[in-house]
Amino acid sequence: MNFFKAVTTSVPLLEVPAQLWSGLIQNLRNQGAGVRESGAFLLGQKTNSCRVVTRTLPYEQLQADALHDDYVALTAASFAKLWNFCRQEGLSVVADVHTHRFGAGQSLSDRANPMIALTGHIAFIVPRFAQGNVRLQNLGMYVYQGNHRWTAYSGSDVSQFVRLTGDPK
Ligand SMILES: [Zn+2]
Repeated sequence: MNFFKAVTTSVPLLEVPAQLWSGLIQNLRNQGAGVRESGAFLLGQKTNSCRVVTRTLPYEQLQADALHDDYVALTAASFAKLWNFCRQEGLSVVADVHTHRFGAGQSLSDRANPMIALTGHIAFIVPRFAQGNVRLQNLGMYVYQGNHRWTAYSGSDVSQFVRLTGDPK
């Protein structure tokens, strides 16, 4: 934990059960089928220093037509469903994730329209529609700073902030 504090104090550590994570990536890959973007919310509990993911909520489960070739989009009604679900289950939105066709950089739209416009919200982008072997250091990780500003992390930084738990290796 001290190690992470030394890197930065502004980015909370994210813990995800390894099995949940691999299921998430697999679902993103399957839903995108190599031709369209896909995405999901990561739900769980959060404190200032740590966020623990306990389940995921894929966008297609909130809204059948959320996935498109070059973007993902949810309506206000889908967000209402999300908040209802979180309230019923006692969960918070810990982060969101979506795929891109090529790299893991944010689009103009991603920067301008955070899924959750809360300072400290984390958005991940998985490159290549999550095809192939997706490793943490392949992801783009973006922490919302408010006012359409983000702090971006990539490469080994991402694997420092995300801890896959219960991984046998
Ligand atoms: Zn995007």
